[in-house]
Amino acid sequence: MSAASDPIQAPAGTPARFERSFTQQEPIAEDAIAAAVAVLRSGRLHRYNTVGDELSPAAELERNFAAYQGARYCLACASGGYALQIALRAAGLKAGEPVLTNAFTLAPVPGAIAAAGGRPVLIEITEDLVIDIDDLEAKARASGARFLMLSHMRGHLADMERLMALADRLGLIVIEDCAHTMGAAWNGVKSGRFGRAACFSTQTYKHINSGEGGLLTSDDPELMARATILSGSYMLYRCHGAGPADAEFEELRLDTPNQSGRMDNLRAAILLPQLARLDENVERWNERYRVIEARLREVSSLHLPVRPAPEHYVGSSIQFLAPGIDEARAEAFLEATRKLGVDLKWFGAAAPVAFTSSHKSWRYVDPQLLPRTDAVLAGLFDMRIPLTFSLDDYRHVAEIIAVSAQMLASEVP
Ligand SMILES: *Cc1c(COP(=O)(O)O)cnc(C)c1O
Repeated sequence: MSAASDPIQAPAGTPARFERSFTQQEPIAEDAIAAAVAVLRSGRLHRYNTVGDELSPAAELERNFAAYQGARYCLACASGGYALQIALRAAGLKAGEPVLTNAFTLAPVPGAIAAAGGRPVLIEITEDLVIDIDDLEAKARASGARFLMLSHMRGHLADMERLMALADRLGLIVIEDCAHTMGAAWNGVKSGRFGRAACFSTQTYKHINSGEGGLLTSDDPELMARATILSGSYMLYRCHGAGPADAEFEELRLDTPNQSGRMDNLRAAILLPQLARLDENVERWNERYRVIEARLREVSSLHLPVRPAPEHYVGSSIQFLAPGIDEARAEAFLEATRKLGVDLKWFGAAAPVAFTSSHKSWRYVDPQLLPRTDAVLAGLFDMRIPLTFSLDDYRHVAEIIAVSAQMLASEVP
């Protein structure tokens, strides 16, 4: 009996339907709302609209996030994708240069490389969803690229010591895409503290929520001075919370274009209290992640990416592989879980859906052969882990996924 033609019935033992929404975020907390209202009452929404030596909320956020990361500098921007773009430009990318990046990442990453005038060179990923360091070495040598845009996609950290040793050996400038690793660490070193610069997103579905927003950190004063002017500081770069000294701007301030992409005070005001609670939320995500992971590990047809001991991850989403699954069975599995109220993403679909996409749907990038990545993506499922669900909710959700996967595996194709 084919799983695709025979919609899965609900035999005894099938869990009840899960009724809650996967896209519902936690509300913005009252203290953040009060801070936002105060900004609105002041009318001073623009980050440079300050009185005397008052530190604007945007500047305060820069100061606090730099301290959180242990970075010398931080720049608040309009989005994570924008931060990636200006990080590359500020690091010296020239038009037409190759930029190495993970073949499995979200569309804003190759998009940022293209926007900065670079040419994405895609690197294979492993079954544990991290960049393949051997393929990285081969393609770095073959392309002569100077830059690696390292995407910690879905929160999975590569072996950072091994990766940075290679980058140092090859003279690669690493820009970290930490959209999914704000709050994560490798061997006690925060994600974002390995490369020349790191980019974070404060978009609604990331770890702190201002609708849209981005943060760029670095210890490199010249890079940050350039990035600050690029972000649209005019000659007001002194009003920043964690920026380089004035002298760093002298040489470059008139030679660097203004590519407007600042963060405003309203967003910064609602992020400040959220940043203070980030580590607490990391623990809440991880408790939830471990409940799901424990149940899915019992399903022999599923493979969960290995989370190495040095990795302190943020389980804001979970991934699992059904190795060798074909399209019909993947669709049947999605349908079975969807009927029970669980909305999984599948990275093997031929056409991009919602936030998911594969390198084949980035047609502005030179087509590249990535057989290992394609094989991984063909069996890769993903689920966001909203904090709005309780641990019991996740026991229920995990049961639905496990039972659906087991039913499918037990049918003869
Ligand atoms: C969301 C995201 C970005 C970009 O963030 P925006 O703030 O939406 O521009 C970059 N990389 C990854 C992996 C993301 O998921």
